[in-house]
Amino acid sequence: MSFARTLDNLALNRSPLLQRFHELIAPKNDAELDGMARAARALTLQNFGRTMRLFAPLYVSNECINNCQYCGFSRDNPILRVTLSLDEVAAESQHLLERGFRSVLLVAGEHPKFVSNNYLADCVRLLSDKFPSVAIEVGPLTTEEYQPVVNAGAESLVVYQETYDRAVYNELHTAGPKRDFNWRLDCAQRGYQAGFRRLGIGALFGLTRWQDDALALAAHVEYLLKHCWQAQVSVSLPRIRPAAGGYRPPVSLTDRELAQLVCAFRITFPQVGIVLSTRERAALRDVLVRLGVTSMSAGSHTEPGGYTRRGTAHLHRTVRGRIVAPDFQDGEDMLATGQFEISDDRSPAEIATMLRNQGLEPVWKDWDQALAGVA
Ligand code: SF4
Repeated sequence: MSFARTLDNLALNRSPLLQRFHELIAPKNDAELDGMARAARALTLQNFGRTMRLFAPLYVSNECINNCQYCGFSRDNPILRVTLSLDEVAAESQHLLERGFRSVLLVAGEHPKFVSNNYLADCVRLLSDKFPSVAIEVGPLTTEEYQPVVNAGAESLVVYQETYDRAVYNELHTAGPKRDFNWRLDCAQRGYQAGFRRLGIGALFGLTRWQDDALALAAHVEYLLKHCWQAQVSVSLPRIRPAAGGYRPPVSLTDRELAQLVCAFRITFPQVGIVLSTRERAALRDVLVRLGVTSMSAGSHTEPGGYTRRGTAHLHRTVRGRIVAPDFQDGEDMLATGQFEISDDRSPAEIATMLRNQGLEPVWKDWDQALAGVA
């Protein structure tokens, strides 16, 4: 089974649930949006209590063999690159532990030479010794390739389709294995078969008309709930941020529309997690946490080594596929380049305080365990 067939028939064949979602993302006046916000808030409280799971991304490599026009790590960008050694990953993870995190998202670009499957499994093993919850966001693998990573202790798989529009996807992904749309589309299912019990999917908003990608993402959620029913499914709704390469999004998802989208997902899928990253600015994040978000990152760095400034000794650039020594420009920070600029730069402690001030309980470990009283 593949989600591809469902996606390609979406215009003609929608379930009643998706029809409802479609109505929820249609233009709304203020009173209608207020009503959606109240419903979303009530459903979130009912299904998740007053908890907010906190996590941090840990970037281990910004090497990549793909060209994705919107991403700073694209192979043709002459950025400062590094793949952290295991000792450097340990130092970064210690930093996160000391700030309270018990849930970590390992992130890497797609580069089989630098980010081999063995390297990934070693990183996960190291992290799972310290963190009860380890997620990965890396290039898509086969079920067999995922298995050692699951065995090493990873419990969550995160993979965003970026856009569900095949034509736009083709235009934006100009080189590398990521050009294979269907291979990426079925990644979550392959991960589920390998044993991941949390699946995170998403679309990158700003690439094409937001309602189209939102509807396809909702269809993907519905599909995974049916076919990967033992997994917890979550969605992310990231918007494009400035990054190396200078990509300008052709369309926008406004703050109001993003809030509507969070509510639409919550109302349609009351038990699905909604993830919010530091791509969004502080004031907006403070509002969205009241609507339907259940998990958020805090104090994030998107550059490998960014928390502790590790990895600087083996920085390099990649020029037309060749690795060359870095020639630092005057005043240039000698740190690997980040994937994109974050917007909310508050510390984890400040985020925790903000949540408590809003009557929410920051959960560093795992909200399932917290709700069961065993955290
Ligand atoms: S989005 Fe992922 S695959 Fe594409 S360039 Fe960035 S890190 Fe590589």
